[in-house]
Amino acid sequence: MNGIYLLLGSNMGNRLEYLREAEQLLIQHGIHVIDESSIYETEPWGKENQDWFLNVVLQIECSKSPEELLTTILSIEKSLGRIRKEKWGERSIDIDILYFHDEIVETDQLTVPHPGIPDRKFTLIPLVEMCPIEIHPTLNQNQMELLAACKDELDCKLTDYKL
Ligand code: ADP
Ligand code: MG
Repeated sequence: MNGIYLLLGSNMGNRLEYLREAEQLLIQHGIHVIDESSIYETEPWGKENQDWFLNVVLQIECSKSPEELLTTILSIEKSLGRIRKEKWGERSIDIDILYFHDEIVETDQLTVPHPGIPDRKFTLIPLVEMCPIEIHPTLNQNQMELLAACKDELDCKLTDYKL
C-alpha cells in the first residue's frame, strides 16, 4: 500500500457541507489532499432507521505519525460538532484512517489498516476508483480483489456531488 487514505462520512444536516468543512480543516492542520474519490451516497451500515451517508475517500500527505493524525482527526470531528451518542449512530462527520502506507498499528486508540475495509463496499468502491492495484498490507489482496470478495449488500450510489 502506497499512500495515506482517509474515509469521510456524514449523515446529518447538510452532509456535503460537513464533508467540505472537514476537508478545509484538514488543510488548515497542514494536511495536503492529493487525490479525492467521487462522492457516494450510501445506506447506513450497522444500524438502520437513520439517514443515508455521503462518503468520500481522500488521499493525503502529511508529516504526522498515525497517532498524531488521529489526534488531528478527533479534534476536527469535535469542532464540527460530532456528538458521540451511540456506536454507529448518526454523525455530522466521521473521519477514519483507512491506510497509512504499509504501516500496521494496533493500539487501544487506533487500528490501521482500518478493520472495516474488507466488509464495506462504501469504503472499497472509492478505493478501487483511486488505487485499484495497491495491496492491503496484511490481507495481501488488492482493492479490486477485496471488493470482489466483499459480501456487503448495502447500496452505495455514485453521485454528481463535488467537494
Ligand atoms: P466508527 O468510525 O468505527 O464508526 P467512531 O468514529 O465512533 O466509530 O470511533 C472512533 C474511535 O475509533 C476513535 O476514538 C479512535 O480512537 C478509534 N479508531 C480506531 N482505529 C481507527 C482508525 N483507523 N481511524 C479512526 N479512528 C479509529
Ligand atoms: Mg470513526
